[in-house]
Amino acid sequence: MILENRINVTRTFLPPLEEYKKYLDIIWEKKWLTNRGELVLELEEKLRRYLKVDNILATNNGTIPLQIALKNVGKNGDIITTPFSYIATTSSIIWENCTPVFVDIDPEYLTIDEKKIEQEITDKTTAILTTHVFGNPCNIEVIKEIADKYKLKVIYDAAHCFGVQYRGRSIFEYGDISTCSFHATKLFHTGEGGALFCKDPELMHKLFYSHNFGHKGVSDFHGLGINAKMSELQAAMGLAVFPYIDHIISGRKKVVDFYNENLDFNKVKTMKIRENTQWNYSYYPIIFSSEKVLLKVQEELLEKNIVPRRYFYPSLNSVNYVKGKEMPISEKIAKKILCLPLYGELTVDVLRKIVQVINAN
Ligand SMILES: *Cc1c(COP(=O)(O)O)cnc(C)c1O
Repeated sequence: MILENRINVTRTFLPPLEEYKKYLDIIWEKKWLTNRGELVLELEEKLRRYLKVDNILATNNGTIPLQIALKNVGKNGDIITTPFSYIATTSSIIWENCTPVFVDIDPEYLTIDEKKIEQEITDKTTAILTTHVFGNPCNIEVIKEIADKYKLKVIYDAAHCFGVQYRGRSIFEYGDISTCSFHATKLFHTGEGGALFCKDPELMHKLFYSHNFGHKGVSDFHGLGINAKMSELQAAMGLAVFPYIDHIISGRKKVVDFYNENLDFNKVKTMKIRENTQWNYSYYPIIFSSEKVLLKVQEELLEKNIVPRRYFYPSLNSVNYVKGKEMPISEKIAKKILCLPLYGELTVDVLRKIVQVINAN
């Protein structure tokens, strides 16, 4: 198989090298590589304005903000969560000595089924941590009502949500804490990286010091902390990618439009986007009639050097170190769902091939 010609589920957007080097020059000149240097601050400010959020804290990946959030509001308790997400959502809960309590998903939106949350709440429940999967918002209003009623904190894993707006505001503005990933496979990236969002100044203060060893000055400490700081090298990549965000999103929109217009929806389904959402075209999941058809399509695409991914498989309640009860809808969908290649540089030629294979099965 010729690797250069391989069509993966995504392709990392790389800015012109010269533009990246301009930022490296600044680093070389200042000899300053981390600890919230000038480039991290510039990136945060640009993102804050672009996303129209009150607060943003850049971090070194998209998992550690979940852990910091859980450390601060999870209190070793039970965390209501979704079984249909990337493993980081569940593993963070367990890593922070909390217990995941899974609630099955909605078969259309693929987000947690808000109607099933309340019955799982007990005295041990401290928070809800759930994912706006594939950039599709959860039922934010109902989740907020439940959280308010039982005094629970809401953390949204919004790793897929760069640029998503819900009811005219950034999706990151919802919930007590929201997180994003800037991993190389995500829509906006810094190689590795991520961010944390929180509107409550007091909680934000805690999260902020948690991300830098708890430091209060050089030799005094607010409290317990870890190292979640983004480096200047990561911020340099982010700043070089930043001017291309709209280009990245519009390129993906064209591919999504092509799939929407050409796939045979008698054979496959895609997810329903929540009402009042301005989506970011981050993933194109299709759900087959059976796992058997999925495997056959996957194999036929692989023969053409096209590599979709089984996002997300398996359902997280069935991972070996997780003790979760059965989640029939999530387990069923996880077996039948495939994310199609999605990035702006895909040619119509390749897209036709993909659609042909799917529609013929
Ligand atoms: C990518 C991802 C993460 C983890 O982000 P990293 O930046 O890779 O640490 C967390 N949750 C979800 C849903 C993701 O897709």
